[in-house]
Amino acid sequence: MRKKIVAGNWKMNNNLEAGIKLAQEVLEKATGNEEAQIVLGTPFIHLNKLAESIVGKKGIEVAAQNCSDKASGAYTGETSAEMVKSTGVNYVILGHSERREYFNETNQELAAKLDLALANNLVPIFCCGEPLEIREKEEHYAYVKQQLTESLFHLSANDFAKTVIAYEPIWAIGTGKTATSAQAQEMHAELRNHLADHFGQELADTCPILYGGSCKPSNAQEIFAGADVDGGLIGGASLNADDFLAIVNSF
Ligand code: PEP
Repeated sequence: MRKKIVAGNWKMNNNLEAGIKLAQEVLEKATGNEEAQIVLGTPFIHLNKLAESIVGKKGIEVAAQNCSDKASGAYTGETSAEMVKSTGVNYVILGHSERREYFNETNQELAAKLDLALANNLVPIFCCGEPLEIREKEEHYAYVKQQLTESLFHLSANDFAKTVIAYEPIWAIGTGKTATSAQAQEMHAELRNHLADHFGQELADTCPILYGGSCKPSNAQEIFAGADVDGGLIGGASLNADDFLAIVNSF
């Protein structure tokens, strides 16, 4: 059976104190027998504190929301994959649509970030997804498959086996609009077939593909019911411990 994962993406929310408080609340309210692996995707400032106080307890993991496409050097303001790993966390979210849109991240840069993340033993949660105009032109399958091809298809089978994918239709992120469970399932199945064509069916069948985009306690169960939907990447609702845990237990 494929691993189920629900990852929160706090984005640029929560100062140091507020973030620790929220993570503690998730830890206290979690039973340790959740239906999915919990990952908290936090700003860099929280990583080390949460690695010490949260990571591994009741199975909870923590993710950075980005890392550099360079290994080290004169890149002011950047944080390398090696630095992320040195905080004690084990995951990194890469290629979120907000990073693609506001920071011009390309599929090629993301390929380099994936390599560095994997070389530093971080589990990458690789985000992909189409904007509204692409869906309206009915080019969404080709668009998202190209994101996977250009960023992932150079990976070895061994590295691909460690990678998690998050499909996030951009028109559903933070908008209150959700893809229907049928739309999510269709895209996830299409992506899995695309992965199978390149990496083989067996590896494609073990790759968790998460859905992201206005996922909430009220719609998570329906979305997660799709056979190829292995969990979620959760923005707004991950800022509330009760809502987040309700989503984690929506399978
Ligand atoms: C996200 O940013 O990854 C996301 C899915 O946001 P939201 O749940 O708020 O739509």
